[in-house]
Amino acid sequence: MDGGAHMKNKFLACAALALLTAGASAQPLPSYDLLLRGGRVIDAKNRIDGVMDVAIKDGKIARVAPGLSAGDAIKTIDVRGMVVSPGLIDLHVHVYNGTGEKGSYAGDLSIPPDGFTFRSGVTTVVDAGCAGWRNFEDFKDRIIDRSRTRVLAMLNIVGNGMRGGKWEQDQADMDGEATAKMAQRYPNVVVGVKAAHFAGPEWKPIDEAVIAGTKAKLPVMVDFGSDKPERPIYDLLNTKLRPGDIYTHAYSGLRQEQDPATQGPSKGLVDGRKRGVYFDTGTGGGSFKFMLAIPMIKQGFKPDSLSTDLHTGSMNSSTKDILNVASKFMVIGMSLQEVVAAMTAAPARQIKREDLGNLSPGSVADIAVISVQKGRFGYTDMLNTKITGTQRLVAELTIKDGKIVYDLNGLESLAWNAPPGDVKLDSRWTSFPRQDPALGVTAR
Ligand SMILES: [Zn+2]
Repeated sequence: MDGGAHMKNKFLACAALALLTAGASAQPLPSYDLLLRGGRVIDAKNRIDGVMDVAIKDGKIARVAPGLSAGDAIKTIDVRGMVVSPGLIDLHVHVYNGTGEKGSYAGDLSIPPDGFTFRSGVTTVVDAGCAGWRNFEDFKDRIIDRSRTRVLAMLNIVGNGMRGGKWEQDQADMDGEATAKMAQRYPNVVVGVKAAHFAGPEWKPIDEAVIAGTKAKLPVMVDFGSDKPERPIYDLLNTKLRPGDIYTHAYSGLRQEQDPATQGPSKGLVDGRKRGVYFDTGTGGGSFKFMLAIPMIKQGFKPDSLSTDLHTGSMNSSTKDILNVASKFMVIGMSLQEVVAAMTAAPARQIKREDLGNLSPGSVADIAVISVQKGRFGYTDMLNTKITGTQRLVAELTIKDGKIVYDLNGLESLAWNAPPGDVKLDSRWTSFPRQDPALGVTAR
C-alpha cells in the first residue's frame, strides 16, 4: 500500500468511526449498562455457585445467567477465573472519624470508611456503637451522609457512645428508651443496638440494650467487656439475649468462650446458638486467637458472620481487612462458599436488611469481584502467632450502586493509547470517567 492509499484508508476509517459514533447516540441504549462475564458467581441467598454472567442496569442487578451477550451491554468486563460476590458487608467497624477527639472511637481511633472499604470489596459497613443517642446525629452528618460507602449503625447503649472509659462505664447514661427513640427516628440507617466495653459486675448495659432492641425491633450486638463471675456468659447467651441477637468477638477467649476441657466452644455458646443467637468474629486488635478458633472450628463451631472490628489499631495489626479475615478462616476450616456467605447474606439477615448481600434481580448492584491467589501467605492473630496458608483473597473490582468504585488491575480500563470512550455512556457504569479532550471532560 502506498502512502496516499494509507492516508485515504485512515481517513475512511475515521469517517466510519464518526458515523458509527453518531449512529450509536441515536440508537436506543443497550439492555444493560455493564456485564461481568464468566466469573464464578457465589450468591448464598439465592443458592447460586456457578460460572455465570451478571448484568447491571440503572444501578440494579438486571440478570444473572450463563451466556449473556456482550452486544447487549454498553460495557463488558471479562472476570473469568474470579469470584463474583454480592458487595461485602462488614458487620463490625468503627468509622466515627473526624471529631478530633483523642483516644476515642468517636474520634481518632475510627477510620474514614471510603478509604478502607472499596479496596477490600466492602460496599456496606455497620458501625458498631461508636455513637449513642446523644451524638448519633453528629455521626450521621459528619460521616454517614457524606460517605460513598453505605454506612449503617448500631447505637451504643451509652448515650455518649464510645468516647472512652469515663463515658462508657457511666451506668446513668445507659438508657434503653432514649436509644430506641433515636433508632426509630432513623430506621433506614440504625440497624442495631450495641453494648460494649463494660467493666462492672452489673447487667445494666445488657438489660438496657435489650429494652432498646425490643422497642425498636432491632438486634443487640454484645462485646461482653470484662469477664465477671457475677454475669456469666452462659446467662448472657441463654437468658438475657434474644434469638437474633449477636455475640461479637466470639473467638477472643477473654470471656469463657472456650471450654477448658474439650477446647471446643463452651456450653453457653453451644446452647446460645441453638436458641438462635448469632456469633460474629469482630477479630479486631485483641479479639481473635488461633489457639481458640482452631479447636472450636474443628469441633464445628464456625462463625455466622465474618467481621473485622476495623479501627486504626486492628487494620495495622492482625486483622488488616475483611478479606484477610476471610482468607485466615479458610486456612482454619471454612470453605470459600462459607466465607462469602458470612460476609454477604448472613450479616444482611442479622441486621434484617435482606435487600442487601445478594444478587437477586432488582437488588442494588453492589458487587465484589475477588481473585483467589495461590502461594504462601502468613496470617496472624492477637497474640502475634502465625499460621501459613496457600490462598489469599484479593479484591479486584468493587461495584457500588451499579458503578465501579475500585479496580485494582484496571480490568475495565482501556489501553492508554486507545481512543477514549464515550464519557456520557461510561458514566452509566463507572465512577471513573475517562478524559475526553474533545468534550473537555476531566476525570474525577
Ligand atoms: Zn469494636
